[in-house]
Amino acid sequence: MCNKLRLAYIFRLTLRGDEAKEDAFMKFKYRVSGYSLRPALLAVLGVVGLSTCGKSGSGRVDGKLYVVATTTMVGDMVARVGGDHVEVKGLMRPGVDPHLYEPVPGDGIALREADIVFYSGLFLEGQMHDKLEGLGEKSHAVTEATGKEELLVPNASGGHPDPHVWGDASLWARCVPGVAEALAKADPAHAVEYRANAAAYIAELETLHEWALKRAGELPEGARVLITSHDAFNYFGRAYGFEVIGLQGISTVGESGLADRVKMVDLIKERGVKAIFVESSVSHAAIESISKDSGARIGGELFSDALGQPGDMEDAGGESYDKGTYVGMLKHNMNAAVEALK
Ligand SMILES: [Zn+2]
Repeated sequence: MCNKLRLAYIFRLTLRGDEAKEDAFMKFKYRVSGYSLRPALLAVLGVVGLSTCGKSGSGRVDGKLYVVATTTMVGDMVARVGGDHVEVKGLMRPGVDPHLYEPVPGDGIALREADIVFYSGLFLEGQMHDKLEGLGEKSHAVTEATGKEELLVPNASGGHPDPHVWGDASLWARCVPGVAEALAKADPAHAVEYRANAAAYIAELETLHEWALKRAGELPEGARVLITSHDAFNYFGRAYGFEVIGLQGISTVGESGLADRVKMVDLIKERGVKAIFVESSVSHAAIESISKDSGARIGGELFSDALGQPGDMEDAGGESYDKGTYVGMLKHNMNAAVEALK
Protein backbone atom coordinates (compact mmCIF):
# COMPACT_ATOMS: atom_id res chain seq x y z
CA MET A 1 0.00 0.00 0.00
CA CYS A 2 2.84 2.29 0.92
CA ASN A 3 4.40 1.67 -2.51
CA LYS A 4 1.15 2.38 -4.22
CA LEU A 5 0.78 5.73 -2.51
CA ARG A 6 4.32 6.66 -3.44
CA LEU A 7 3.74 5.75 -7.07
CA ALA A 8 0.49 7.68 -7.12
CA TYR A 9 2.49 10.67 -5.97
CA ILE A 10 5.21 10.22 -8.58
CA PHE A 11 2.72 9.90 -11.39
CA ARG A 12 0.19 12.46 -10.23
CA LEU A 13 -1.56 14.02 -13.19
CA THR A 14 -0.57 17.50 -14.24
CA LEU A 15 -1.78 17.98 -17.78
CA ARG A 16 0.27 20.44 -19.77
CA GLY A 17 -2.71 22.53 -20.79
CA ASP A 18 -4.71 22.02 -23.93
CA GLU A 19 -1.94 20.43 -25.97
CA ALA A 20 -2.03 17.18 -24.02
CA LYS A 21 -5.82 17.09 -23.99
CA GLU A 22 -6.01 17.64 -27.72
CA ASP A 23 -3.44 14.90 -28.27
CA ALA A 24 -5.41 12.57 -26.10
CA PHE A 25 -8.38 12.86 -28.41
CA MET A 26 -6.39 12.11 -31.54
CA LYS A 27 -6.03 8.49 -32.36
CA PHE A 28 -3.13 6.86 -34.10
CA LYS A 29 -3.81 3.68 -35.91
CA TYR A 30 -1.46 1.34 -37.65
CA ARG A 31 -2.78 0.35 -41.00
CA VAL A 32 -2.02 -3.09 -42.18
CA SER A 33 -2.77 -4.41 -45.61
CA GLY A 34 -6.18 -5.83 -46.43
CA TYR A 35 -6.83 -9.49 -45.90
CA SER A 36 -9.44 -11.67 -47.45
CA LEU A 37 -10.95 -14.39 -45.37
CA ARG A 38 -10.75 -17.83 -46.95
CA PRO A 39 -13.32 -20.48 -46.02
CA ALA A 40 -10.65 -22.80 -44.59
CA LEU A 41 -9.32 -20.06 -42.35
CA LEU A 42 -12.85 -19.22 -41.29
CA ALA A 43 -13.27 -22.76 -40.02
CA VAL A 44 -10.02 -22.56 -38.07
CA LEU A 45 -11.01 -19.25 -36.55
CA GLY A 46 -14.29 -20.74 -35.45
CA VAL A 47 -12.47 -23.52 -33.65
CA VAL A 48 -10.06 -21.22 -31.82
CA GLY A 49 -12.78 -18.81 -30.90
CA LEU A 50 -11.66 -15.86 -32.96
CA SER A 51 -14.89 -15.38 -34.82
CA THR A 52 -15.64 -11.69 -34.87
CA CYS A 53 -19.38 -12.10 -35.39
CA GLY A 54 -21.35 -9.80 -33.19
CA LYS A 55 -18.45 -7.47 -32.54
CA SER A 56 -18.44 -4.11 -34.22
CA GLY A 57 -17.01 -0.62 -34.13
CA SER A 58 -13.45 0.41 -33.39
CA GLY A 59 -11.09 -0.83 -36.05
CA ARG A 60 -11.80 -4.56 -35.83
CA VAL A 61 -11.11 -6.34 -39.12
CA ASP A 62 -12.67 -9.73 -39.77
CA GLY A 63 -10.20 -12.57 -39.70
CA LYS A 64 -7.50 -10.68 -37.83
CA LEU A 65 -6.61 -10.49 -34.19
CA TYR A 66 -7.68 -7.11 -32.87
CA VAL A 67 -4.78 -5.84 -30.82
CA VAL A 68 -4.56 -2.61 -28.87
CA ALA A 69 -1.16 -1.08 -28.07
CA THR A 70 -0.60 1.93 -25.85
CA THR A 71 2.59 3.68 -27.00
CA THR A 72 3.92 4.01 -30.54
CA MET A 73 7.02 1.95 -29.66
CA VAL A 74 4.88 -0.95 -28.44
CA GLY A 75 2.55 -0.55 -31.45
CA ASP A 76 5.49 -0.82 -33.83
CA MET A 77 6.76 -3.98 -32.13
CA VAL A 78 3.33 -5.64 -32.22
CA ALA A 79 2.78 -4.69 -35.87
CA ARG A 80 6.17 -6.21 -36.79
CA VAL A 81 5.53 -9.46 -34.91
CA GLY A 82 1.86 -9.75 -35.87
CA GLY A 83 2.37 -8.96 -39.56
CA ASP A 84 -0.71 -9.47 -41.72
CA HIS A 85 -2.65 -11.40 -39.11
CA VAL A 86 -3.22 -8.58 -36.64
CA GLU A 87 -4.98 -5.25 -36.74
CA VAL A 88 -3.10 -2.95 -34.37
CA LYS A 89 -4.80 0.02 -32.87
CA GLY A 90 -2.42 2.43 -31.15
CA LEU A 91 -3.95 4.55 -28.40
CA MET A 92 -1.21 7.18 -28.24
CA ARG A 93 -0.14 8.99 -31.37
CA PRO A 94 3.33 10.40 -32.16
CA GLY A 95 4.31 13.28 -29.88
CA VAL A 96 2.04 12.17 -27.04
CA ASP A 97 3.56 11.92 -23.59
CA PRO A 98 2.64 8.51 -22.08
CA HIS A 99 3.32 9.68 -18.51
CA LEU A 100 0.48 12.18 -18.81
CA TYR A 101 -1.85 10.35 -21.19
CA GLU A 102 -5.27 9.86 -19.74
CA PRO A 103 -7.62 7.38 -21.45
CA VAL A 104 -10.54 8.84 -23.39
CA PRO A 105 -13.93 7.06 -23.69
CA GLY A 106 -13.00 5.57 -27.08
CA ASP A 107 -10.00 3.89 -25.46
CA GLY A 108 -12.27 2.09 -23.04
CA ILE A 109 -14.25 0.61 -25.94
CA ALA A 110 -11.07 -0.42 -27.77
CA LEU A 111 -9.60 -2.03 -24.64
CA ARG A 112 -12.84 -3.93 -24.04
CA GLU A 113 -13.14 -5.16 -27.63
CA ALA A 114 -9.46 -6.05 -28.06
CA ASP A 115 -8.41 -9.69 -28.22
CA ILE A 116 -5.06 -8.70 -26.69
CA VAL A 117 -3.72 -5.48 -25.17
CA PHE A 118 0.02 -4.70 -25.09
CA TYR A 119 1.44 -1.89 -23.01
CA SER A 120 4.93 -0.79 -22.08
CA GLY A 121 4.61 -1.17 -18.31
CA LEU A 122 6.76 -0.20 -15.29
CA PHE A 123 4.20 2.57 -14.72
CA LEU A 124 5.10 4.40 -17.94
CA GLU A 125 1.38 4.70 -18.64
CA GLY A 126 0.84 6.15 -15.18
CA GLN A 127 -2.75 7.29 -15.71
CA MET A 128 -3.86 4.03 -17.34
CA HIS A 129 -2.18 1.60 -15.00
CA ASP A 130 -5.26 0.41 -13.11
CA LYS A 131 -7.30 0.13 -16.29
CA LEU A 132 -4.61 -1.96 -18.00
CA GLU A 133 -4.05 -4.22 -15.02
CA GLY A 134 -7.80 -4.61 -14.63
CA LEU A 135 -8.07 -6.28 -18.04
CA GLY A 136 -6.71 -9.49 -16.59
CA GLU A 137 -5.08 -12.14 -18.77
CA LYS A 138 -5.54 -10.41 -22.10
CA SER A 139 -3.24 -7.51 -21.18
CA HIS A 140 0.54 -7.83 -21.32
CA ALA A 141 3.28 -5.42 -20.25
CA VAL A 142 6.07 -5.98 -22.79
CA THR A 143 8.78 -4.91 -20.31
CA GLU A 144 7.81 -7.79 -18.04
CA ALA A 145 10.27 -9.87 -20.05
CA THR A 146 13.24 -7.88 -18.76
CA GLY A 147 15.03 -9.21 -15.70
CA LYS A 148 14.96 -7.15 -12.53
CA GLU A 149 18.74 -6.96 -12.57
CA GLU A 150 18.64 -5.30 -16.00
CA LEU A 151 16.40 -2.47 -14.86
CA LEU A 152 17.75 0.86 -13.67
CA VAL A 153 16.41 2.29 -10.44
CA PRO A 154 17.35 5.98 -10.20
CA ASN A 155 17.95 7.46 -6.74
CA ALA A 156 15.12 9.99 -6.91
CA SER A 157 12.48 7.50 -8.08
CA GLY A 158 11.62 6.12 -4.67
CA GLY A 159 12.79 2.65 -5.64
CA HIS A 160 10.70 2.54 -8.81
CA PRO A 161 12.42 1.13 -11.94
CA ASP A 162 12.99 3.51 -14.85
CA PRO A 163 10.41 2.56 -17.54
CA HIS A 164 12.35 3.87 -20.61
CA VAL A 165 13.70 0.43 -21.54
CA TRP A 166 13.49 1.05 -25.34
CA GLY A 167 16.52 3.37 -25.14
CA ASP A 168 18.68 0.22 -25.32
CA ALA A 169 17.94 -1.75 -28.51
CA SER A 170 19.33 -5.00 -27.08
CA LEU A 171 17.10 -4.73 -24.00
CA TRP A 172 14.06 -3.80 -26.11
CA ALA A 173 14.75 -6.89 -28.24
CA ARG A 174 14.30 -8.97 -25.10
CA CYS A 175 10.65 -7.83 -24.97
CA VAL A 176 9.83 -9.24 -28.43
CA PRO A 177 9.39 -12.99 -27.71
CA GLY A 178 6.68 -12.28 -25.14
CA VAL A 179 4.64 -10.51 -27.81
CA ALA A 180 5.01 -13.47 -30.18
CA GLU A 181 3.95 -15.94 -27.49
CA ALA A 182 0.88 -13.92 -26.52
CA LEU A 183 -0.19 -13.67 -30.17
CA ALA A 184 0.50 -17.39 -30.69
CA LYS A 185 -1.63 -18.32 -27.70
CA ALA A 186 -4.55 -16.25 -28.95
CA ASP A 187 -4.14 -17.38 -32.56
CA PRO A 188 -2.36 -20.78 -32.64
CA ALA A 189 -3.02 -21.15 -36.39
CA HIS A 190 -0.37 -18.52 -37.07
CA ALA A 191 2.03 -19.27 -34.21
CA VAL A 192 4.85 -20.27 -36.56
CA GLU A 193 4.63 -16.95 -38.38
CA TYR A 194 4.53 -14.90 -35.19
CA ARG A 195 7.66 -16.63 -33.92
CA ALA A 196 9.45 -16.24 -37.25
CA ASN A 197 8.54 -12.53 -37.42
CA ALA A 198 9.80 -12.11 -33.85
CA ALA A 199 13.12 -13.78 -34.68
CA ALA A 200 13.59 -11.52 -37.72
CA TYR A 201 12.77 -8.40 -35.70
CA ILE A 202 15.13 -9.41 -32.89
CA ALA A 203 17.93 -9.87 -35.45
CA GLU A 204 17.18 -6.39 -36.82
CA LEU A 205 17.31 -4.89 -33.31
CA GLU A 206 20.59 -6.61 -32.58
CA THR A 207 22.08 -5.19 -35.78
CA LEU A 208 20.76 -1.78 -34.73
CA HIS A 209 22.41 -2.18 -31.32
CA GLU A 210 25.78 -2.94 -32.93
CA TRP A 211 25.41 0.04 -35.26
CA ALA A 212 24.56 2.33 -32.31
CA LEU A 213 27.61 1.17 -30.35
CA LYS A 214 29.84 1.91 -33.32
CA ARG A 215 28.24 5.28 -34.02
CA ALA A 216 28.56 6.39 -30.38
CA GLY A 217 32.20 5.34 -30.54
CA GLU A 218 32.84 8.15 -33.01
CA LEU A 219 32.54 10.62 -30.11
CA PRO A 220 35.37 11.05 -27.62
CA GLU A 221 34.26 9.81 -24.21
CA GLY A 222 34.29 13.28 -22.64
CA ALA A 223 31.85 14.56 -25.27
CA ARG A 224 29.25 11.90 -24.58
CA VAL A 225 27.01 14.00 -22.35
CA LEU A 226 23.32 13.98 -23.19
CA ILE A 227 21.27 16.76 -21.59
CA THR A 228 17.52 16.52 -22.16
CA SER A 229 14.16 17.62 -20.68
CA HIS A 230 13.49 14.51 -18.62
CA ASP A 231 15.34 11.35 -17.65
CA ALA A 232 14.22 9.24 -20.61
CA PHE A 233 17.71 8.27 -21.80
CA ASN A 234 19.21 6.36 -18.89
CA TYR A 235 19.09 3.01 -20.73
CA PHE A 236 20.36 4.68 -23.91
CA GLY A 237 23.21 6.15 -21.88
CA ARG A 238 24.08 2.89 -20.17
CA ALA A 239 24.05 0.95 -23.43
CA TYR A 240 25.98 3.43 -25.58
CA GLY A 241 28.26 5.12 -23.07
CA PHE A 242 26.60 8.52 -22.61
CA GLU A 243 26.37 10.38 -19.34
CA VAL A 244 22.71 11.36 -19.24
CA ILE A 245 21.36 14.37 -17.39
CA GLY A 246 17.64 15.13 -17.44
CA LEU A 247 16.15 18.36 -16.16
CA GLN A 248 13.19 16.44 -14.74
CA GLY A 249 13.08 12.96 -13.24
CA ILE A 250 11.92 9.74 -14.93
CA SER A 251 8.38 11.11 -15.22
CA THR A 252 7.35 14.39 -16.85
CA VAL A 253 4.82 15.00 -14.10
CA GLY A 254 5.63 18.27 -12.37
CA GLU A 255 7.79 21.16 -13.59
CA SER A 256 11.49 21.82 -13.21
CA GLY A 257 12.20 24.65 -10.77
CA LEU A 258 14.34 27.73 -11.27
CA ALA A 259 17.04 26.23 -9.04
CA ASP A 260 17.25 23.14 -11.32
CA ARG A 261 17.66 25.35 -14.37
CA VAL A 262 20.40 27.47 -12.78
CA LYS A 263 22.24 24.32 -11.74
CA MET A 264 21.98 22.96 -15.28
CA VAL A 265 23.36 26.18 -16.80
CA ASP A 266 26.34 26.05 -14.41
CA LEU A 267 26.99 22.42 -15.26
CA ILE A 268 26.91 23.08 -19.02
CA LYS A 269 29.40 25.95 -18.70
CA GLU A 270 31.65 24.01 -16.36
CA ARG A 271 31.77 20.94 -18.58
CA GLY A 272 31.86 22.84 -21.86
CA VAL A 273 28.85 20.91 -23.23
CA LYS A 274 28.32 22.01 -26.83
CA ALA A 275 24.70 21.02 -27.33
CA ILE A 276 21.57 20.09 -25.41
CA PHE A 277 18.41 18.45 -26.69
CA VAL A 278 14.66 19.00 -26.74
CA GLU A 279 12.24 16.05 -26.78
CA SER A 280 9.36 15.47 -29.16
CA SER A 281 6.85 14.60 -26.44
CA VAL A 282 7.85 17.23 -23.85
CA SER A 283 7.51 21.04 -23.88
CA HIS A 284 10.64 22.70 -25.31
CA ALA A 285 10.46 25.83 -23.15
CA ALA A 286 12.78 24.88 -20.28
CA ILE A 287 15.56 23.50 -22.51
CA GLU A 288 15.30 26.53 -24.81
CA SER A 289 15.77 28.91 -21.89
CA ILE A 290 18.75 26.89 -20.62
CA SER A 291 20.26 26.99 -24.12
CA LYS A 292 19.96 30.78 -24.12
CA ASP A 293 21.47 31.19 -20.66
CA SER A 294 24.29 28.67 -21.09
CA GLY A 295 25.29 29.30 -24.70
CA ALA A 296 24.93 25.58 -25.55
CA ARG A 297 23.02 25.22 -28.79
CA ILE A 298 19.93 23.06 -29.26
CA GLY A 299 21.36 19.93 -30.84
CA GLY A 300 18.03 18.78 -32.23
CA GLU A 301 14.82 17.11 -31.19
CA LEU A 302 15.13 13.61 -29.79
CA PHE A 303 12.32 11.09 -29.63
CA SER A 304 12.07 10.05 -26.03
CA ASP A 305 8.67 8.54 -25.23
CA ALA A 306 7.02 8.43 -28.66
CA LEU A 307 8.10 7.64 -32.23
CA GLY A 308 7.90 10.17 -35.07
CA GLN A 309 5.15 10.40 -37.68
CA PRO A 310 4.91 7.21 -39.75
CA GLY A 311 6.55 7.76 -43.13
CA ASP A 312 8.65 10.73 -41.98
CA MET A 313 11.90 9.73 -43.67
CA GLU A 314 15.37 10.95 -42.77
CA ASP A 315 18.60 10.53 -44.72
CA ALA A 316 21.82 10.26 -42.75
CA GLY A 317 25.09 8.40 -43.09
CA GLY A 318 24.20 7.17 -46.56
CA GLU A 319 20.96 5.50 -45.54
CA SER A 320 17.31 6.40 -45.30
CA TYR A 321 15.05 5.49 -42.39
CA ASP A 322 11.51 6.09 -41.20
CA LYS A 323 11.35 8.07 -37.96
CA GLY A 324 7.91 6.59 -37.38
CA THR A 325 9.49 3.20 -36.67
CA TYR A 326 11.44 2.13 -33.59
CA VAL A 327 14.56 1.43 -35.66
CA GLY A 328 14.37 4.81 -37.42
CA MET A 329 13.70 6.59 -34.13
CA LEU A 330 16.82 5.18 -32.48
CA LYS A 331 18.92 5.95 -35.56
CA HIS A 332 17.67 9.52 -35.55
CA ASN A 333 18.46 9.97 -31.85
CA MET A 334 21.96 8.54 -32.15
CA ASN A 335 22.81 10.45 -35.34
CA ALA A 336 21.48 13.72 -33.83
CA ALA A 337 23.46 13.22 -30.62
CA VAL A 338 26.72 12.31 -32.35
CA GLU A 339 26.53 15.12 -34.92
CA ALA A 340 25.66 17.80 -32.33
CA LEU A 341 28.24 16.77 -29.72
CA LYS A 342 31.17 16.26 -32.11
ZN1 LIG B 1 9.49 9.47 -20.08
